[in-house]
Amino acid sequence: MHRDSLAMEHYRMHVMEQWPDSPTKTASLAAVRATIESLERTKPAGATPFTCAECLSARPRPNLVVLPAPSLRPTQRRAA
Ligand SMILES: [Zn+2]
Repeated sequence: MHRDSLAMEHYRMHVMEQWPDSPTKTASLAAVRATIESLERTKPAGATPFTCAECLSARPRPNLVVLPAPSLRPTQRRAA
């Protein structure tokens, strides 16, 4: 039940994140985030932790290495 509520609130939040920016979006996101925080605080003891794949994929990955773009300049040769 609790887990289902968290899943529903995460779904609502991620749908709202797709809305165009507006005061309604800001207020709605604040409300749903407050609900999620409340549900996290009142999680029953021993409840299976809820993990949201959408939230996990959006987090920065500390082990992700971003390689610089290869140079487009031709390799310069040394004069012998
Ligand atoms: Zn989520």
